[in-house]
Amino acid sequence: MSNLICDAQPIECPGREHCPARQEYPLRSSILGEGLQIQRALPHRERRLVGPWCFLDHFGPVPSTGPRMINVAPHPHIGLQTVTWLFGGEIHHLDSLGFDQLIRPGQLNLMTAGRGVAHSEESTSPTGAMMHGVQLWVALPGPMRQHEPAFEHHASVPKFTIDDVDIQLFAGELAEHHSPAHFWSQIVGAELRARKDTELSLPVYPEHEHALLLIDGHARDPKGGLSHDQLLVIGAGTDCIPLQMDAGTRLILIGGEPLDEDIVIWWNFVARTAEEIEQAREAWQHGEFGQVDGYQGEPMTAPPLEGRPRAGR
Ligand code: MN
Repeated sequence: MSNLICDAQPIECPGREHCPARQEYPLRSSILGEGLQIQRALPHRERRLVGPWCFLDHFGPVPSTGPRMINVAPHPHIGLQTVTWLFGGEIHHLDSLGFDQLIRPGQLNLMTAGRGVAHSEESTSPTGAMMHGVQLWVALPGPMRQHEPAFEHHASVPKFTIDDVDIQLFAGELAEHHSPAHFWSQIVGAELRARKDTELSLPVYPEHEHALLLIDGHARDPKGGLSHDQLLVIGAGTDCIPLQMDAGTRLILIGGEPLDEDIVIWWNFVARTAEEIEQAREAWQHGEFGQVDGYQGEPMTAPPLEGRPRAGR
């Protein structure tokens, strides 16, 4: 997806920002196009990163108004990996590398932008089918930022069950399971779904920061209930996240080692300086990211950019 809630100024995201032991951050909500609700969890003005995860949008659930309800025209990315994970619906990905891939729930699309890639995403779900998913970005560590772009589709990801919670691991490591997808940092990303009312003790790496996003149902930790409109962030220093989950409850878990670099985010770019952002914007406007063959329509125009970064969003 593209960053559809974009301000004119880049957002500065300091690495190794102090992360409290437990803090909730309200989501920012927008309605786009044909009634698609997007709730932005990251970046938040007081919590820009969780490990190397720098972007988390939750979209839907919403009944499809027909194919191309979601129609994200070709747009560029640099310096990040995009993770598309669906709970409902189907999305068709096309990119400037020539990949043409349909994604369904339980499957992973991972695009490594490296020094630059362009892609489009269009829903193909028929009228009435539920569109629901998350889009995440991982900031690439410095040495990987000039990497060749790449795209991976995984038709399934590791699945296992802990304390009656079914877990699908789409990124990194959890409970001695490993995702086959290629990430460049110590990371975790997973969907958790309770089979029945249960108490989960989730083993995690104490050097990682984590966050939980409630997708459906009801869950609570020892300090209180999780809310549908807040991201719960848990700082490093714990090796177990205890959760009570009602039957059918679904959560997204993300986490990882705190990023050791300061980054700047604007539109669909993750960089280190405002100058790099301006250069990437110019390169896109001059057609230097390559063609997305097969897409019916015009590529996106970059939004206006004010050069001076600001803290927060
Ligand atoms: Mn995108």
